[in-house]
Amino acid sequence: MDTVCGCSRQGFCCISSEALTKVFNYLPLHDIQVVCSLSRRLNRLSVDILLAANGILDPTVKCHIRLDENSDALTALQFALFIPSMSHFSVVFAGTRDITAPARDMQRCIRILRKFLSIRDVTVEFLETEHDYGFFTNLKDWLIILSG
Ligand SMILES: [Zn+2]
Repeated sequence: MDTVCGCSRQGFCCISSEALTKVFNYLPLHDIQVVCSLSRRLNRLSVDILLAANGILDPTVKCHIRLDENSDALTALQFALFIPSMSHFSVVFAGTRDITAPARDMQRCIRILRKFLSIRDVTVEFLETEHDYGFFTNLKDWLIILSG
């Protein structure tokens, strides 16, 4: 096996990035999250899998996420240490059984807006659900203000 580090330990560091990336493609997403948090090198190699699983293919151009029962897009974005910049952030709240989830997700969106000061364009959409999102109006205003 090719070694990338040049050391003689034959340890984890010696495994090529290509080999690691191949292995990561077989891991469940939860394990990818663990891998992402182990080191900066592993984060760089694996985070695209997390992002792609949530429909985020090139977040520097346009980051469009849809939050529903199955989405973990906000978690993927929180794990993404190496997105250099983001100009358009678009989020659709598509409904969830958990009434408290949108409030938490909104807080996480605000953290993302604070993380990427390059964001110049923000779209927030609330799909009609069984819950009334009217009380989020102020948070929506917040998002618009934060996006500059
Ligand atoms: Zn090594």
